[in-house]
Amino acid sequence: MPVFTGPIDLHTHSSVSDGTETPAQLMRSAAAAGMGTVALTDHDSTAGWPEAAGVVAETGVALIPGMELSTRVQFASVHMLAYLVDPTDAALLAETERIRAGRLSRAEEIVRRIARDYDLTWDDVLAQTTPDATVGRPHIADALVARGLATDRSAAFAGILHWRAGYYQPHYAPDPLTGVRLIRGAGGVPVLAHPGTRGAESVIPVQRLKALVDAGLFGLEIDHRENTPDARERLHVLARRFDLVVTGSSDYHGEGKPNRFGEHTTDPAVLERIVAEATGASPVMP
Ligand code: AMP
Ligand code: FE
Ligand code: FE
Ligand code: ZN
Repeated sequence: MPVFTGPIDLHTHSSVSDGTETPAQLMRSAAAAGMGTVALTDHDSTAGWPEAAGVVAETGVALIPGMELSTRVQFASVHMLAYLVDPTDAALLAETERIRAGRLSRAEEIVRRIARDYDLTWDDVLAQTTPDATVGRPHIADALVARGLATDRSAAFAGILHWRAGYYQPHYAPDPLTGVRLIRGAGGVPVLAHPGTRGAESVIPVQRLKALVDAGLFGLEIDHRENTPDARERLHVLARRFDLVVTGSSDYHGEGKPNRFGEHTTDPAVLERIVAEATGASPVMP
């Protein structure tokens, strides 16, 4: 088992999805912020791994290759962190390609709707993405900012991109149980991302959680800025009951969100359990 130095931050996004820094820049920012170990967890893509791994020696920051898999229950999106999956696993690749294609057509549809009322084009959005990036509402937000229609991403999400504004449309995603099975099938370790953002009442029902645990769910990301205090209490009870590990992370998106590296961290013993459980990929050590 490699020895991981702290602070350990297990949830970050690069420009491969909706973060604003390239994977290499993200690793350098992590080093500048004093991180010892960082997981790169772009939405529905592992494409940033090689570039991030390429600067591990230079930065001295250990890399846990990961991904944040989109899943969905009716209209609610449920994010599943997938650590150390085999990036060549055929079933996982097919599903993430399907999700990314669905995200693309969905983003085009949202822009078509916005364009009825505002001066915004699909090219504006494309100008905010890097080639093959997982496209999301943050890129539409950046296009709105570039057009002077919002002051920053947060304002765009509170306004035009809010589901109540009338332009929102969900994107294709598998259900969470399928997500857990896909991650396990690829030798990875699934951890439910920010499961308490909508308060204790909206925390996943026990029966549904039990089904995920039976399928191989390994942990809950309880220490995350968007989990409400009452939800965290509830989640700790569930973590104890189902013997799930508890992780903490920043969900860093570069300048795309106020979240800073290391604002929440994960215990080294927990990371060791995650690594011991994984068979799909290995940490990249300095
Ligand atoms: P999408 O997956 O396309 O529906 O967009 C959701 C993504 O937008 C999440 O991954 C968040 O990182 C990001 N996001 C959500 N709310 C905000 C916000 N207020 N400011 C910046 N980014 C946000
Ligand atoms: Fe994001
Ligand atoms: Fe998320
Ligand atoms: Zn995230």
